[in-house]
Amino acid sequence: MSQLVKPHGKEQVLKPLLLEGEELAEAKKKAETLKKLPMSSRETGDAIMMGIGGFTPLDGFMDHDDWKGSVTDFQMKDGTFWPIPVTFSATKEDAASLTSGNEVTLVDEDSGEAMAILTVEEKYGVDKELECKEVFKTTDQEHPGVAKVMAQREVNISGPIAVLSESFFPSEFGGIYQRPSEARAIFEERGWNTVAALQLRNPMHNSHAYLAKVAIEVTDGVYIHQLLGALKPGDIPADTRVKCIDALVQNYFRPERVVQGGYPLDMRYAGPREALLHALFRQNYGCSHLIVGRDHAGVGDYYGPFDAHRIFDEIPSGSLLTQALKMDWTFFCYSCGEMASMKTCPHTEKAVLDEDGNYVSGDRLLLSGTMLRKMLSENKMVPTEFSKPEVVALLREFYAGLEEKVEVKLHGAATGDAAK
Ligand SMILES: [Zn+2]
Repeated sequence: MSQLVKPHGKEQVLKPLLLEGEELAEAKKKAETLKKLPMSSRETGDAIMMGIGGFTPLDGFMDHDDWKGSVTDFQMKDGTFWPIPVTFSATKEDAASLTSGNEVTLVDEDSGEAMAILTVEEKYGVDKELECKEVFKTTDQEHPGVAKVMAQREVNISGPIAVLSESFFPSEFGGIYQRPSEARAIFEERGWNTVAALQLRNPMHNSHAYLAKVAIEVTDGVYIHQLLGALKPGDIPADTRVKCIDALVQNYFRPERVVQGGYPLDMRYAGPREALLHALFRQNYGCSHLIVGRDHAGVGDYYGPFDAHRIFDEIPSGSLLTQALKMDWTFFCYSCGEMASMKTCPHTEKAVLDEDGNYVSGDRLLLSGTMLRKMLSENKMVPTEFSKPEVVALLREFYAGLEEKVEVKLHGAATGDAAK
């Protein structure tokens, strides 16, 4: 019998807030009659995560004390470890019309779909600068996570939620989008006890494949778990990323050691804090380990390359059952003649390639996202040491389609940092 890591929280059982069957039908009818409040993409993603049990043991959006506790002490008032606040905000006007005990329907502002019914408990203002300083280590509005917090409405509203929908995720990402209970069932069926989650938000190249293979050497299997929620403009959409992973797994892995899945959250780009949140919800998904690479969940130069490693040693022991599998920056080294990392490879020179992507001199093959995009869009050869031909073909196809339709967008995208 398989012994997966237990879900997060004192009770150690998954707590999905998604209604089903008769109860769901009735709640949906009721939702139409209630006052409606809009939810941002981030809030909608959080609500769905609570719906499927990914954010176990949360039972709704946080009140002031839980907000403050998670911001400053990584824990809620009952002592539950929680590294990033999960809150819902409304305008002053909407908040003024509500009193404790009122029920409101939370509607995704992009799709207009009723996502949840919230029972109002507390209305409170927050010090957004404090939240950003603590969680993102910066108040710079150029930071995409900071920008989102600063754009939140004026009043946070807390209370338990009943979730009505998983939005488009099940229909649009059928076979990839998974609830924690579904992932756990697959792992159990395979008889796995230890599972390493590989967090992905960009196409899977050889360096990611290497991380996955190292993880498989020390666990029963790897869960390639990618983000299906909103990214930065210019990032590769999930359906293309899924195809790239399939191509790698089918051709270069033992498929019985790999499970692919997706989750509905938006990126917050909170670096180390987000690495902790990533580990927390992977615990709910049944993963004993989370692969944490260089600058995990970072953006720009806001975090040191190993801040996300260190933070796992700084939290009180026992905060999380899921452990970080700390990995350094990985690449192909021509002098080692194999995949390597900063931790293993003694060669330091950057490899030089010619116009056609052939090796000229040097050691380490480092391609930035921008360089890769340029090679793909100009139909140049991408070295097989960087990415397998099956993956390159899929990306080439994607960029060809993009160039014809929205050429301007590609130029904007070329400044992104998809190499991470
Ligand atoms: Zn080397």
